[in-house]
Amino acid sequence: MSAPRPFDASSALVQAPAAPADLLVTGAHVLDPRTGLDGPQDVLVRDGRIAQLGAPGSLEAPAGAEVVDGRGRHLLPAFFDPHVHLRVPGQEHKEDIETGTRAAAAGGYCAVVAMPNTDPVVDSAPVLRSLRDAAARDARVAVGFMPAITRGLQGTELTGMAELRDEGALGFTDDGKPVVSAGMLRKAIQYQRLAGGVIALHEEDPSLSGRGAMHEGAVSAMLGITGIPSISESTMVARDAAIAGYEGGRVHMQHLSCIESVRAIEHAKAEGVRVSAEASPHHLCLTDEAIRGSRDGGSGPLDTNMKMNPPLRAEADRQALIAGLRSGVIDCIATDHAPHARDEKESPFEQAPMGTIGLETAFAAVHTDLVVPGILPLALVVDRLTAGAALLDLPVPRIAADEPANLTLVDLAAEWDVGENGYESRSENCCFAGRRLRGRVLLTVAGGSVAFRERALVAVGA
Ligand SMILES: [Zn+2]
Ligand SMILES: [Zn+2]
Repeated sequence: MSAPRPFDASSALVQAPAAPADLLVTGAHVLDPRTGLDGPQDVLVRDGRIAQLGAPGSLEAPAGAEVVDGRGRHLLPAFFDPHVHLRVPGQEHKEDIETGTRAAAAGGYCAVVAMPNTDPVVDSAPVLRSLRDAAARDARVAVGFMPAITRGLQGTELTGMAELRDEGALGFTDDGKPVVSAGMLRKAIQYQRLAGGVIALHEEDPSLSGRGAMHEGAVSAMLGITGIPSISESTMVARDAAIAGYEGGRVHMQHLSCIESVRAIEHAKAEGVRVSAEASPHHLCLTDEAIRGSRDGGSGPLDTNMKMNPPLRAEADRQALIAGLRSGVIDCIATDHAPHARDEKESPFEQAPMGTIGLETAFAAVHTDLVVPGILPLALVVDRLTAGAALLDLPVPRIAADEPANLTLVDLAAEWDVGENGYESRSENCCFAGRRLRGRVLLTVAGGSVAFRERALVAVGA
């Protein structure tokens, strides 16, 4: 097969038109691990682009520009989430493009990538085209799409990957389901040579996960709930890394949850396999103990907001994910934002759907549980919250002159109770609900426009 066809990355992300920002953020601590900035600066945004940086107090706001007091606050490159569920088309009672991207903006994100396990499944050019049209009308931050690897997520027939790529597909995934057949995945990776685009994998062996509802371990045994063993994930991670290595393909492993998977990725990377991986804030911050209700923050036992796929695992798994994030074995943080309606989550634990929303809490949760106690440096967390863009061959948000303005202003000292003022998401199934978190997003500039502004943020000029 020939080389991948040319792909226009700049048009792969879609966002509704909005007024370009003109603002001066004064004196914020600017932190960007890629440009090396780590100190107080004035940052001037003109017509949606970063026009100038300067010592605090050195820049003047042009006529008509808004002045934002950044003193005592941090200005970061806005985050990129390679894995969210916007539920469009077909499940708009859970989320839609407008509410999902509003949640993203409130969480400090400038771009998100939507998964295809919708109704209908995003597995054809017309469905993808209509979604991109909808995003061009409704998306408050940029949205990219990953259509399915197999038609209807059935695992039996490949989608028209090359045609979908021409229509703007960032990559391909059957997320929500694994590609059970090794032969089918091999074929998809062979077509990837022609179509281009990363293949993202939800790793799970259904013959091992079965009807399990939580991590298989001491807590599931105590609660009498059928477990999902970690080998359900890790055996598939190892298998698919081997297939990618054999075919020279490029794969991305979604939502790693256990120590065995981290080891498998580490091994594959050492062998030179082109594999990347993500971990989610809930797996980095919580364990299966949360299902017992022992975690501080108010959730009782068998809280269905703690039920997700893959499940919250044991403390040793969580520690392995943190170590993997630190070493770079895990490339990025992805929320796997998965909205569900209240009546669905109000079912008994075993029957409730799997998933937690996460866009609005990702930064604060990781900051509270990993940065504040000194486990991970803030600069590393910012790197991992933005690195997903590079994995999809997109430019990573940077704070530098002449870059498009993708910025988030945060107050690291501000504490807030998750859910106290509701959510921007249409759903409220949040695993961090009731927790007091430290670190609040005050302002998000996405694709050059102000996409979110916290109520408390008072503009002092213009
Ligand atoms: Zn998944
Ligand atoms: Zn997912």
